[in-house]
Amino acid sequence: MKITRQKHAKKHLGFFRNNFGVREPYQILLDGTFCQAALRGRVQLREQLPRYLMGETQLCTTRCVLKELETLGKDLYGAKLIAQKCQVRNCPHFKNAVSGSECLLSMVEEGNPHHYFVATQDQNLSVKVKKKPGIPLMFIIQNTIVLDKPSPKTIAFVKAVESGQLVSVHEKESIKQLKQEQGLVKNPEQRRRKKRKKISGPNPLSCLKKKKKTEDTKSPASKKKRKRIRIRNRSTSKVLSEKQNAEG
Ligand SMILES: [Zn+2]
Repeated sequence: MKITRQKHAKKHLGFFRNNFGVREPYQILLDGTFCQAALRGRVQLREQLPRYLMGETQLCTTRCVLKELETLGKDLYGAKLIAQKCQVRNCPHFKNAVSGSECLLSMVEEGNPHHYFVATQDQNLSVKVKKKPGIPLMFIIQNTIVLDKPSPKTIAFVKAVESGQLVSVHEKESIKQLKQEQGLVKNPEQRRRKKRKKISGPNPLSCLKKKKKTEDTKSPASKKKRKRIRIRNRSTSKVLSEKQNAEG
């Protein structure tokens, strides 16, 4: 069981590392619900998280999460103690604290530049996190830590980046690095160039069509003009011919 669990974690972690620049030490952003679950499940986060993720981790939280835990009172005293041992990361709410979930969401906005993992038991927060691409989500089931699989939104984002529909600095860099590592850099570019040439190749056909179209569009107008001219010509030519006849 543990081996498969760790295999899954390794796979998911690799995905986030390759596509979103997630690196050690992994920044695990905890909220009160996660701390409470760790307490209940007797999960020693400092020992088990690095073991589970097979890398160095940094437990961190925000002032808003700590304030929320303080206001919630004695029931969450243990959770508060766990949160207080975490590094406190600056959030934009130094004047007016917001709810823990709102604060954590704000920490991973705009492409999650600090590569935070969000660790929460809050379903509402989880749903919102999953809607943003590139944020590793963690939770606790009974007494085990789980790194959630990449969300459909995250997978769709990566596919879009790979197919060139989206341009993102981080993703482009990581993809380039991957391609360089695998020696695939030259071939895709050449293929792209060829494709572009091929795309430019069929243009003569479309040009021919366009020519036909332009001829079709031009010809009635020119006929009309010709007709008009002819009519004028007829009248003028008659006059001219009469004149010529008279002069001749
Ligand atoms: Zn905050």
